[in-house]
Amino acid sequence: MTTRNVLGLDVGGSSIKYQLASVAADGLPVVVQQDTLPTPESDPIAAFAAIARQLAGDDLAGVVIAIPGLVDSDSGTVLRSVNLPHLDGLRLGPLLGDLLEVPVDVVNDGRAAAIAEARWGAGDGHHDVFTLALGTGIAGCHVVGGEVAAGAHGIAGELGHIVVDPHGELCGCGQHGCLETVIGAPALRRAWRAAGGEGSPRDLLGAYENGDVRALPIVERAGNALGDALLTLLALVDPGCIVIGGGLASSPHRLVQLAVTRVDEKATFHVVPPIVSAELGRWAGAVGCIGIAVDRLTRAVHASAAR
Ligand SMILES: [Zn+2]
Repeated sequence: MTTRNVLGLDVGGSSIKYQLASVAADGLPVVVQQDTLPTPESDPIAAFAAIARQLAGDDLAGVVIAIPGLVDSDSGTVLRSVNLPHLDGLRLGPLLGDLLEVPVDVVNDGRAAAIAEARWGAGDGHHDVFTLALGTGIAGCHVVGGEVAAGAHGIAGELGHIVVDPHGELCGCGQHGCLETVIGAPALRRAWRAAGGEGSPRDLLGAYENGDVRALPIVERAGNALGDALLTLLALVDPGCIVIGGGLASSPHRLVQLAVTRVDEKATFHVVPPIVSAELGRWAGAVGCIGIAVDRLTRAVHASAAR
């Protein structure tokens, strides 16, 4: 195998974060370009093809596209994306693959980021990593041996919908008192406003740091709820490492610290693994795409060598 290019596109509602890597004979990728582009608003297949040709030239060996939403990676189809509704139902992988004449994989953006954090970020060195992104929703992903363990029906890892308060608020999923109804950004914003606070959940966390008594019960309830959910996670999954990222996990870190304290206090038979902050930030999705593309390329080389 001579040096070939693989392209990772992490597609968001308004911009695409991309990485272009060249892969040498040893299978190791070297990122040669990294930047952002505006997300095409129409004719996505032709637009993605033009981007790939322009960036990678003739040496393109594979493309991986991360999409915010529900995807069927087996068929390369975007099932539903709230931020990119014009892609709903699109057989993006096969259609773009036919046009470019290279394999095109379609993955969920959270899973791409989880793979990246587990393999090359904060989970590096651990075989069994559970990643958690705290934001509007709570996205969880179990990565074992560098691959996502998604369960029999592809929905494993939904830590945000573990019930932490059976008499709590109605969740968007139809249950009452899911973790998301306590610690999701909209829930924290509502609780902060109800307590007379102003601004975002980050302002709430800042007020807590400054000793604001209005913030105290809200943040402690959220931290304890996250801790209880993590204890459930330890009992069910027994991960070697837990990586926590997302907007609400970054500075200030008190929310996660409260949860870790709760876990340490309540754990009995559980083995509490390292609970660490995500490291790759906003580029994690693109990094994960490159990793998936390299995996496919390496498998193809081994398959042709075996013939
Ligand atoms: Zn729920």
